[in-house]
Amino acid sequence: MTQADQTIILFGSLQTEYKTIEAMVKIYCKDHHNTAGICDKCEDFLQYAHTRLDRCPYGEEKPTCRLCPIHCYKTDYRQLSREIMRYSGPRMLLKHPVLAIRHLVAEKRPIPDKPAANASNRHKRKQAEKADKH
Ligand SMILES: [Zn+2]
Repeated sequence: MTQADQTIILFGSLQTEYKTIEAMVKIYCKDHHNTAGICDKCEDFLQYAHTRLDRCPYGEEKPTCRLCPIHCYKTDYRQLSREIMRYSGPRMLLKHPVLAIRHLVAEKRPIPDKPAANASNRHKRKQAEKADKH
């Protein structure tokens, strides 16, 4: 994965969700990997999460990842994701109360049966790019 992936724009609630993941990874990395800023492994994880959000077929209607019926993470990343969530989840309320509460509210939303057609961020992004050129 390349740095360019970080320039991919996520819309609305997807961007909020990314911010939440980023905050959790930072908490986890700081306490486990002993690096200033964020280590390569965690940076790689963040890029992966960013791409998954872009491609999520639910788009902005997506349920929280924990409750999602689609398991889109590869095994290694899913394992790491669980570890990060377990560690950082309880710590989020103190450090990032707004993001934490938003996430808790999101977990109460009903899960859509199946994704609407063309709802993904990636699809909307491509449409927007196309519209720009005309
Ligand atoms: Zn790390």
